Amino acid sequence: MEMSTAILVCYCENPANLNTSWSNDNSGRRFFGCKKYENGFQNPCYFFTWFDPPLIPHSRIVFLGF
Ligand SMILES: [Zn+2]
Repeated sequence: MEMSTAILVCYCENPANLNTSWSNDNSGRRFFGCKKYENGFQNPCYFFTWFDPPLIPHSRIVFLGF
């Protein structure tokens, strides 16, 4: 049995977190960011991708689990 939930795994092999942006330009938009993004890690990972691509408003990216 496999989970149907899509999980995006970063290239540092950590599962990326799905976060919500609250900046003025992107309020409410969701994005994946590595849990090692900044925060003073010894080897920080700058993986980042939008969950909802602005140029393709009616589609969704399926990362894994299809
Ligand atoms: Zn990473």
